[in-house]
Amino acid sequence: MSLRAHIAAQIAADGPMRVDTFMAMCLLHPTLGYYTTRPPFGQAGDFITAPEISQMFGEMLGLSLAQCWLDQGQPARFALVEFGPGRGTLMADVLRATRGVPGFVEAAEVMLIEASPALRAVQRETLADHAVRWLDDPTALPDLPIYALANEFFDALPIRQYVRDGGGWRERHVGLEGGRLTFGLGPAQPQPALKDRLADTKDGDLIEERSSAAPIVDGLGQRITAQGGAALIIDYGDWRSLGDTLQAVQDHAPVDPLHDPGAADLTAHVDFEALAAAAPCAHSRLTPQGVFLERLGITARAQQLATSLDGAALEQHIAAHRRLTHPAEMGNLFKVLALYPSAGTPPPGTEA
Ligand code: SAH
Repeated sequence: MSLRAHIAAQIAADGPMRVDTFMAMCLLHPTLGYYTTRPPFGQAGDFITAPEISQMFGEMLGLSLAQCWLDQGQPARFALVEFGPGRGTLMADVLRATRGVPGFVEAAEVMLIEASPALRAVQRETLADHAVRWLDDPTALPDLPIYALANEFFDALPIRQYVRDGGGWRERHVGLEGGRLTFGLGPAQPQPALKDRLADTKDGDLIEERSSAAPIVDGLGQRITAQGGAALIIDYGDWRSLGDTLQAVQDHAPVDPLHDPGAADLTAHVDFEALAAAAPCAHSRLTPQGVFLERLGITARAQQLATSLDGAALEQHIAAHRRLTHPAEMGNLFKVLALYPSAGTPPPGTEA
């Protein structure tokens, strides 16, 4: 049975399905979900992420975290945590780049948070040279200083969508019409959790809410406050989002999210204000990825790497640098939010 048929049968039995339920089934259904059935990234996959574009991305992030570790007195044991590590490329680049920081890698206990068994297997292979372990519950981090990374993790967490109707909200859901999956709206209802959005929306506006993100950021912030550490959260989105950002991508092109559930990647923009509000520690200003990488010296690093390249490899390297940093490519769409101890300073690259 296809995932589409599965979802249709569930809607026929139980009625219209919430968008977060639909998104969770599409991405992580145990046998038919997008992340559970395939390794989706890279040129050959459906989309490409920053760590797969160039090793420089992980190098810059690793050095920012390592500088935080130095500034915080080099704790002798800490958790180096990555949320949603994909193929494990980012963590591998971080571990390689920080070998030059004496004591950092030795003090690190690498911990990965990954829901997909298929991707865990890829990560095990990519990181075969290191002792790594997987944490099952993203809200329960170990009682250690935490230096954490999350690149394109929060955008994959399911969202609910609501359309403003007077003083209430109509929740958007997935229904069935003549055997086809279609979007529809439930009845208008007051939503106490969305009270503060009544001020900046009007009738017909659509807003998105990602309730599973807050407990994760809360757990992270609690550890950072109690034990020290820092987190770099990179994703696309803005301080506060407005409008429908649910997006399906297959073979590097946008497709209809309802067309072939489980066959396309499904994400939605990250509302960074909601993450910042849920973090019981200090947070940086929201920094465009291009600015963040430039501040960390990506251009000098790019020039250094370029000296040993020529021909097509050199051209690809130059294009990768541009793609990561240029405002018309990923430089502005992607943002960085850092979490750090209230008594500390923002991680390098995210300072105001
Ligand atoms: N950070 C990687 C991959 C981004 S894709 C990169 O930049 O290339 C999103 C990642 O988050 C995948 O590894 C996916 O399997 C994982 N993921 C999605 N939802 C998750 C969840 N609820 N819990 C844990 N991991 C999840």
